[in-house]
Amino acid sequence: MSITYDQRRTFAIISHPDAGKTTLTEKLLLQGGAIHMAGAVKARGEARRARSDWMKIEQERGISVTSSVMTFTHNGLLFNLLDTPGHEDFSEDTYRTLTAVDSAIMVIDAARGIESQTRKLFEVCRLRDIPIITYINKVDRKGREAFDLLDEIQEELQLDIAPRVWPLGMGGQFHGCYDLARNEFHTSTQGRGGPFDTVVHCSGLDDPQLEERVDDGVLAQAQEEAELAEAAYPPFDPQAFREGHQTPVIFGSALRDYSITSLLDLIAEHAPPPRPSPATPRDVTPDEDKVSGFVFKIQANMDKNHRDRIAFLRICSGRFKRGMKLRQVRTGKDITVHSPIIFMAQDRGIADEAGPGDVIGIPNHGTIRVGDTFTEGEKLRFTGLPAFAPEILRRVRLTDSTRVKQMRQALQDLSEEGLIQVLKPDIGSQWVVGVIGQLQLDVVSDRAKSEYKVALEFEPTPYQMARWLSSDDERALNTFVSKHKSAIMTDRDGDPVFMASSPWELNYKIESNAAIRFSKTKEME
Ligand code: GDP
Repeated sequence: MSITYDQRRTFAIISHPDAGKTTLTEKLLLQGGAIHMAGAVKARGEARRARSDWMKIEQERGISVTSSVMTFTHNGLLFNLLDTPGHEDFSEDTYRTLTAVDSAIMVIDAARGIESQTRKLFEVCRLRDIPIITYINKVDRKGREAFDLLDEIQEELQLDIAPRVWPLGMGGQFHGCYDLARNEFHTSTQGRGGPFDTVVHCSGLDDPQLEERVDDGVLAQAQEEAELAEAAYPPFDPQAFREGHQTPVIFGSALRDYSITSLLDLIAEHAPPPRPSPATPRDVTPDEDKVSGFVFKIQANMDKNHRDRIAFLRICSGRFKRGMKLRQVRTGKDITVHSPIIFMAQDRGIADEAGPGDVIGIPNHGTIRVGDTFTEGEKLRFTGLPAFAPEILRRVRLTDSTRVKQMRQALQDLSEEGLIQVLKPDIGSQWVVGVIGQLQLDVVSDRAKSEYKVALEFEPTPYQMARWLSSDDERALNTFVSKHKSAIMTDRDGDPVFMASSPWELNYKIESNAAIRFSKTKEME
């Protein structure tokens, strides 16, 4: 049995560290029956060797390949959950993964509200108007008022709110969650704070069954809040959600299993399947016969004896089969994909195939780059895969000055691969490396050492932020660049980048140079 593209849901979870992404991921996988997620990469033939290498990095570096894509089925649909590494693994790849999903779940800690990494990841979703479901986690603990959290989401993220699941009490008063769409009360037989194990079908929040199960004060408050919410927010509008303007909000507790099914059902019913993908010279629709896709992430093996990499390809059209020949459009070269990693659900009977919305891992030796388009021969290029302005900027210092050439080669190669941004000053010769997360710097120095035999050190710079410059008025741009020579660098394509020493300085420049665009992203070339 094959699963068509419109039965697929490819999504990611965005959150700040500790909000509960890992816990929620596990609960979603359990619900979908994919208990052995670690076994998702099937070892066979040549893939066996690839697997053991990758397992080794996982152990050494804590970088997880097998959990990069987690696949499970639920109610006849196939779900692909793409991992967005957080904590110390937070990197440009985390952002770029969001260009390969069709929807996202935003997990917020009920006590903390929107935090910095949530906001950054949200902004990336907004670039492509990715539909977002909000899951407010940890309602079993004392958190902020429900309306306070909803107001924050609405105001700070400029999203319309549609409450779908409401908490009946929070913290010590937590009795369960009420699914407003289904009129179901989810609660526990083990009393307050117990894990979810019971569904009570109700006629509404005034159902007498609730009076038996919920303390008077808590019920009265929830009834009042739900009424207020109904008056304050427009009803759920599936189209506004799909266009990225409205977010359905679910209160729950991942740890205690609350609102997992409500969440899955919402994705199943309303999150979009793979949509047409923007490309030049023409867009690609998922129902086309021929295979096409783009690479959104490269993972390198840290073991210096094995310089192999895995390129993660999101399939946009066609049915990919093991052993297929695909053309790398940038180089015009055909690559036979003998031993792809195909991420599979336990019960998926189509192990050798992948369709639109799926991700495959292509082993290679550094020939594939982030942003590469693959097709069955057509000259296409998928667009909308940006480079992101680095958030950590470091000067590169070489401990052995006789190896400048090797150092430059290393940085050039790693930037082309998509691992880092390399910025060169207009004045002076010291290059700057820009990354999103600290781990990227560690990976750069490890790889420079093992692959290019150069020892790099990173030094602080006076810069806090980098923005790509562009303008419709070429003269204005040239004037700006020559006036700010010491704060201008060029990226690997030769495009100018403004280096700001503080957010204040950046704002000031933006305000006083209306003709210039200061961009946080740039379309990859
Ligand atoms: P991540 O960093 O976003 O992946 O967060 P984790 O899933 O690792 O969770 C961070 C901490 O919050 C862990 O100690 C979890 O047990 C805890 N946690 C997660 N979900 C809940 C919840 O619903 N209620 C409570 N009380 N704790 C939770």
